[in-house]
Amino acid sequence: MQKIADFSEFVKLSPAAPVQATRHGWRAKCLQRLIRLDLPVPTTVALPVETVRAIAAGQMPDTGRIAAVFGSDFLVSVRSSPENPEWGGPGTVLNVGMNDAMHARLSDSHGREAADALYLRFVQSYATHVARLDPDMFHAGPGEGALAAALSAYHAETDEPFPQDPARQLAEVLRSMARAWEGTTARLLRQAKGAPPDAVLGLLVQRMALGIGPGISGSGTMQFVDSVTGAPRIMGRFRGQSQGRAISDDTLFLTRDPRGLSLEELAPEIFAVLCGYGSACRARLREEMQLEFAIEGGRISVIDTVRVARSARATVKIAVALAEDGIITREDALLRVEPRALTELLHYQVDPRAPRDRFARGIAASPGAAVGRIVFTAAAAQASAARGEPCILVRRETGPEDIRGMHAAVAVLTERGGMTSHAAVIARGLGLPCIVGCTEVHINSRDRSLRGPDGRTFLEGELITVDGSNGEVLAGTAEMLEPALDDGFRTLLRWAETVCDIGIRANADTPDDARTARMFDADGIGLCRTEHMFFDEDRLTVMREMIFADTPNDRRVALDRLLPMQRADFIALFDIMAGLPVCIRLFDPPLHEFLPHDREGMRELAEALDRPLSEVTRRVEALSEFNPMLGMRGVRLGVTVPEIYDMQARAIFEATVEASRRGAPVVPEVMIPLVSAAREVEIVKTRIDAVASAVRTEMKADFAYRLGVMVETPRAALRAGEIAQHTHFLSFGTNDLTQMTYGLSRDDAGRFMSTYVNQHVYAEDPFHILDVEGVGELLLMGASRGRAARHDVTISVCGEHGGNPESIAFCRAAGFDYVSCSPFRVPVARLAGAHFALLAPRNRF
Ligand code: PEP
Ligand code: MG
Repeated sequence: MQKIADFSEFVKLSPAAPVQATRHGWRAKCLQRLIRLDLPVPTTVALPVETVRAIAAGQMPDTGRIAAVFGSDFLVSVRSSPENPEWGGPGTVLNVGMNDAMHARLSDSHGREAADALYLRFVQSYATHVARLDPDMFHAGPGEGALAAALSAYHAETDEPFPQDPARQLAEVLRSMARAWEGTTARLLRQAKGAPPDAVLGLLVQRMALGIGPGISGSGTMQFVDSVTGAPRIMGRFRGQSQGRAISDDTLFLTRDPRGLSLEELAPEIFAVLCGYGSACRARLREEMQLEFAIEGGRISVIDTVRVARSARATVKIAVALAEDGIITREDALLRVEPRALTELLHYQVDPRAPRDRFARGIAASPGAAVGRIVFTAAAAQASAARGEPCILVRRETGPEDIRGMHAAVAVLTERGGMTSHAAVIARGLGLPCIVGCTEVHINSRDRSLRGPDGRTFLEGELITVDGSNGEVLAGTAEMLEPALDDGFRTLLRWAETVCDIGIRANADTPDDARTARMFDADGIGLCRTEHMFFDEDRLTVMREMIFADTPNDRRVALDRLLPMQRADFIALFDIMAGLPVCIRLFDPPLHEFLPHDREGMRELAEALDRPLSEVTRRVEALSEFNPMLGMRGVRLGVTVPEIYDMQARAIFEATVEASRRGAPVVPEVMIPLVSAAREVEIVKTRIDAVASAVRTEMKADFAYRLGVMVETPRAALRAGEIAQHTHFLSFGTNDLTQMTYGLSRDDAGRFMSTYVNQHVYAEDPFHILDVEGVGELLLMGASRGRAARHDVTISVCGEHGGNPESIAFCRAAGFDYVSCSPFRVPVARLAGAHFALLAPRNRF
C-alpha cells in the first residue's frame, strides 16, 4: 500500500488546532468546541477529507505516526465526521488496538471477564466490517470460550491469525470506513437527505474511554430538553460497565425516579458536573445538545455531542427559548424552523412513538389526524355528529351537496380526486384532516363497507384513523398528540410578521374561517367564495327557486329573499375582520351544482316548488353541460343572468355601510371570477357601479370599494394589460389557471398523477406545487402587462398554491403584493415569507 506523506494528513484536536467543518467534518469541529469549553474530551486525531479520499483510493497515511500520538496503551475508536450530521456516515468502530497483549494488560487491571468482552466485541466488528466475513459466524454473546471461538473462526476464514499490530488494525479500519462512504448505497442514502453528489467525509481517531472498572463506571447519554415537547427536562440513560450505546443489565435513570436507582442519587457530584456541561454546550454551541459520555472509576469523559433529535413542536419551543435567553437572535430562531413543520403544530397528529396499523394510503390533502366512525353519506355524518359521535366521511368524491356532511365530520377520505379537488379544498379551509385519491380502497355503498388492499373490510360505524399529514388510513384508534398553539408558536409567528415582506391573507368563506384567519394574524381575506354560503338548507330552496324562475322579475323576487341573508354573511365577515381587507368573489360555479342529481331529490324539489316532476327533470337536464367547468359559470353568469351579481353587490355595499357605522371603516373588494375578456369586466363594472350609487343614495352614506378580476384563464393572463385598466387588483386563481394551462381536470387528475410524477413526466403535481415554467410564465406575463397598464394595480395569488413555500418564493421574487391561502396554512406561509426575506432581498420589478 502506498503511503501519503503530507504533514497535514491528520491533526490532533486542541483549542488552537486548524480545524474546519468543511475539511474535518462537523464532529471534529464540534469536539474542538467542547475542548475549548474545557470539557474532558479524550485525545482525538482528525483526518481531513483529502486524507480520507486518498485512503479510499488506496493510499495510506502513516498510521504508526497516528498511533504514536496515543502512546503505548493504544486503544481507540474511529468515528465518521461528514460535513453535515444529517448525512450519516459509517458506524463507529470501538476498541481498535485490542490484541493479545492489550487483553493481558486489561485482564490484570480490569479482570478477565471485562477484557474478554472488549476483545470479543472488537473481533466481531473487525471481522464483519473490515474483513467482510459472514456476521452469522460472529454473533455469539460474551461467555466462556466465545473469544477463542471468534479468534479461531477469523483464522479459519482468512487463513491468517487475527492481526495484532495496532497500526495495521487502524489502517484497515480507516480503509473500510473510507470505502464504505464511497459505496453506492451510502451515496444514495445521503443524497436523499440533501447531500451533494461530491459530499466528503472526515474521520476521527479517539482514545477509548473504557466505561468499565471499579467504582462508578459506565457510559450514557444525557439531554436537557424533551425531544417531543421541547420542554426543559433531563432525559437519557446511564449504563453501568458498558461502552458506546450498548445495552447493559446495569442501567440507571439519570434523575430520581420511583422505578429505580438514579445517577443523581448514586453520584450527585458527577450528575451536577454533567448538568454543568449541558448548560455550557447550550450557551456556547448555541444549540440543545445530547452529551455522550463515559465514566471510568468516577472520571468523566465527554466522547461526543449531537444535536438533540426533535419533533416539530420541540423545534419551535427550543428555537424560541434560545432566542429569549439571548443565546441566538430572533432571526436565527426563525430560520431554525422549517415552515412546513408548523402544520404539525396546528392539528392533532398521530403520536410518532405509537404503533400504526396502516391499511391504505392516498394523497395527503389536508394535514392533521382524527379518529372517527366510518360514514358513507353526508346525512349519516350529520346524524353521527348530532349523536355526539365523531365520524369520518368516506366518499368516492365529494360535491357541494356534501359540504354539510364535511362540516359534521372530523376527517374526510375520498377514493378519487387530487390536491385541488372539492374535498381537498374544502377540508383545508375547514382545517379537517383529509386524504383524497385513495384508489387503494374500494367503497361499496350498497353494503356500506370499505375494503383495503389487503382485503380487510370495515363497515359503517367502525373506527378508523385518517392521517392527513402523510396520507395514511389506519385501522382503529391511533394515539394522538394535541395541537401545540402555545406561547412559543405565537411568539415565533409574531417575530415572523415583523420580518415577512409579502402580505399573507386567508381564503375564508365563513365566520369560523374568518376567526381562524384572525387567530393566525392574516392580513385580511384574499378570497371569500360566496357560493359556499348558499348550501344551507333554508337558502338552497330559495336558490333553486331563483334558478327555476321563468322571468327576470320572478328571479328578482327569489333574489330579494337571498339579499338579507347575504348581507348578514358579509356583515359578520366585516365585523370579525375589523377593517382588514376582505375580498369577496362574486358567484362562480355553474348553476346546476345547486340542483338535485337523483330522482328522490327531484321529487322533493318538485314538491317544494309546486311544479310537475317532469318539468323539474327537464329543467335540470337543460342546465346540465358536457363541460361545466368550461361552461356557464363565473362572469359568464354575471353577463347573462346579471341579477345574481346585482344582488350580491347590493348585499356587499349595504353590509359595508352597516359594518362601517358601528366599527372600523370597510373598503370592500369585489372580485369577478373566470374573466377571459376585458369587455366582460366593463359590463359587470357598469352594473356594480350603478348598484353602489343606488346604495349610497338610499342609505345616505358614502363608501369606496375596489373592483378586481380573478385571473384564472390563460386569456385573462395574456390580456391583463387591457383588463387592468378597469380594475384595482388582479388575483391569480392558480387552481383554474393550472387546469386550463395544462388542459388537465383538477378533479380527475389524481387518477394518474402519481404515474406521471413517478415517470418524471411532471416534476411535481402542478395542482400542489406551482408549475413555474408554464403557469408561472403566465403569472409573470400577466403581472407585468397589468402593471405596465396600471402601475398601482395590486397583484396576488389566491389559488391553493398561495400557501406553498416554493410558490411564495416565486410570487415574492416577482413582486406580488400578497398571497392568500387556507386559514390553517397562514402560519406556514408567513414563516416561509420571513425566511425568504431574511435570505434574499426583495426584488420588485
Ligand atoms: C382558483 O381557481 O385558483 C380559485 C382560487 O378558485 P376556485 O378554486 O374556487 O375555482
Ligand atoms: Mg377558480
